[in-house]
Order: sequence, then C-alpha cells, then structure tokens
Amino acid sequence: MSTDPSDLFAVEARALDASDPLAAHRDAFVGAESSLIYFDGNSLGRPPRVTAQRLADFVTGQWGGRLIRGWDESWMQMPFHLGDRLGHLALGAAAGQTVIGDSTTVLLYKLLRAALAERSAGDPGRVEIVVGRDDFPTDRYLVEGIAAERGARVVWVDVDTTRGVDADALRGAVGPRTAVVLLSHVSYRSGYLADAGTLTRIVHDAGALVLWDLCHSAGAVPVELDAWGVDLAVGCTYKYLNGGPGSPAFAYVAARHQATLVQPIQGWMGAADVFAMGPEYRPAAGMRRFLSGTPPVLAMRAMEDTLDLIEDAGITAIRAKSVTLTEFALRVSDGILAPLGVRVASPRDPAERGGHVTLSHPAMRAVTARLWEQDVIPDYRDPHGLRIGLAPLTTSFAETLAGLTAVAEAVRAEG
Ligand SMILES: *Cc1c(COP(=O)(O)O)cnc(C)c1O
Repeated sequence: MSTDPSDLFAVEARALDASDPLAAHRDAFVGAESSLIYFDGNSLGRPPRVTAQRLADFVTGQWGGRLIRGWDESWMQMPFHLGDRLGHLALGAAAGQTVIGDSTTVLLYKLLRAALAERSAGDPGRVEIVVGRDDFPTDRYLVEGIAAERGARVVWVDVDTTRGVDADALRGAVGPRTAVVLLSHVSYRSGYLADAGTLTRIVHDAGALVLWDLCHSAGAVPVELDAWGVDLAVGCTYKYLNGGPGSPAFAYVAARHQATLVQPIQGWMGAADVFAMGPEYRPAAGMRRFLSGTPPVLAMRAMEDTLDLIEDAGITAIRAKSVTLTEFALRVSDGILAPLGVRVASPRDPAERGGHVTLSHPAMRAVTARLWEQDVIPDYRDPHGLRIGLAPLTTSFAETLAGLTAVAEAVRAEG
C-alpha cells in the first residue's frame, strides 16, 4: 500500500464526496461539469443553472408582459419579501427586519450614519465609531468618511491578521464615548469567525449599537441576529448567496430600532407615502425607511434560486459541510504544503473559522497568477495570502484536493 500522502488524501476525498449529503447540489450550478477549480465562491458564487431560464422568463413574462403594472403587482414588495425569506433561512431574523437594497457599501453607510446620529442625540459625548484596523477596506473607508463628515472619532482595534476582532480586543476599545461598533462576522482575510453573541453583549454593555458585516458569513455560517440581540447588520448576496455580480445587499434593523433610526439618503422610496409625492420627506414606518431609490428588481432575482437550495439543504447542513471542507483543506495543507514552507493564516479551531482558509507563503502573489492560467481560481490577499474559498454548495472534496495539489506544484515552481 502506498504511503504517499497524496494517495491517501485522494482516497479520503473520494470517501468524503461519496458520503456528502450535499454532493448532489453541486450539479445545480453552472460549471460543476467543467474541470476548472473554483476557490472563489466566497467572492462571487457560481450561478444556479435554473437562474438563466428564470431571468429569461422574467424579462419576457414580467418585465415585457406586465410593464409598469409590475411595480404595483409585485416588484415594490420584492425587497421585503425576499429580505424576510433570507432572514428566515439564513439570518435568524423574524419577518419585518430585513430588506434587500443598495450595495453593501451604501447600506453600511446609511446604517452607520443612522446609528451614530441616534446614539449621539441621546448622549452628545458618544462620538466614537469603533472598527477593526484590518477590516475590509470599504468598511474602514466609510467609517473614516463618516467621522470626518460628522465630527466623530475613529477608534481602531488592532488585530492579528491571522485572526480578527475578538472579545478581549473589543473590551479595550469600547466605553462611555462609543456610539457604534462595526464588526465583521467572518474576517475577509483570515476567515476568523467572531463570537457574535458575546461581542454584541460587550457593545451593549458599553451602551453602544453594533453593526455586523455579514458579507463572508451569510449563506455559509448560521447567523442568529434576533437571538444574539443584534441591532444592525448588512451583507453581500453575490458571495455565498450566489446572487450574481453586483447583486444588491441586505440590511437588517432590529424591530426595536426601526422607529428611531433615520438614514441619511432620503429618497422617495423610503418616504411614508411613496406616491403622495409630498412637499417634504417623512420616513416610512418599518424597513421601507431604509430604502432610498427604486429597488434593483432584476438584480435581486438570481438569489431566489440559491434561497431555494438553502431551504432544501438547510443552513445547519451547509455549515457542517463547510467545516468538513475547511478541515480537509487544512489536513491537505499540513500534509503537502507545510513541507514547502506554506503557513496556515486562519484559525485552526473550526469554531473560530468561517468558510475559507488562507495560506501564506512569500510567493503567493506569483502562485496565484500561475494558478489562474491553469484554471485554478483562488484569490490573493496581502500579506502573502492565498485565499481558498470553499463554498459548501458548489465545492467538492476532490476539487479541493486537486486545487491544493496545483498550489503545491505552483509553490514549487515559484519558490
Ligand atoms: C465583499 C465585501 C464588501 C463589498 O461591498 P460592496 O459594496 O458590495 O462592494 C464589503 N464588506 C466586506 C466585509 C466584504 O467582504
């Protein structure tokens, strides 16, 4: 019997695929049949096969057939219906608290501004916005912009780039001057999975509001917004929710805050009576007030097919496969990449890890370019990080092994 670790991993990958209860879902996606290895489902998910036909039907039947009548008949309610369904299936959010709207960047801006205004109105000393030093650029840029605009102060939380903001770091950053804290549920760089319930309590104990960025967790990691007592959350739908390039983001506002928070982009779609076209803006009740302009109806259709799949598979089973995939990837990495000098730049404990793992080596930028030429698609993040995104509905264990074997060859070639 061979003792080559690659042969043993091949046997293991076959066994894991054979016993994977979600294996059949992979075939529901475009590209499952190709030999391309996709490690970027955490940046842009693959399209479900049925989406092409459903989008075509929408263009002819709904858009072409109903024309402007479609707004009254169903489109106006889509951001709320779809938001509620997403909230129910993947966010632990009761109905009436989730809406599909603008981009993640715009929704983060609106909710950060609303939260800062609300807290500092109640206590003028609350002028601090807390954010991680290593958070996703858009999150950091927004906080700096809002601070400059509103005369607020940014409090940066320093973190280990192989982890993320944890309870100890957060406790040192919040206090009586904190208005709002922006946190990532899963770090885009390391894959660190925050203990959202505990961190939310720390923010509340300081008298501040928390805004969770769920971009890298929604659809891969169970989220319990209501149970955690979260105030606000925003996340992408084109990553693990397969909504397509630029599909609109979602926003969650806990019911208890909806009457008091006022967002800054006052548009007609967020007004109390949209078609009254009155002389002044009065915000609507409920989630409508967090909208600004006309909802991107076409762009929010694709994610419905992924929600069907999530309903079918269940988020608990999706998370279970995600953990098995990342565990397998780390075992393979320890077996064939560690001897080449590749380090794991993600948490080892699955309870602290989301759906991707980051592997670090000085040659990873060149390795990424080489892999893309071979139809092996991970992505690169400084410093020296190769991100291996393992979307649980679309990634197989054999694909994971083949991709990591290609990484080993590329590191040998570049190293
Ligand atoms: C992907 C991502 C975004 C993207 O924001 P867009 O407005 O959709 O470009 C924001 N924050 C995080 C943490 C992300 O991972």
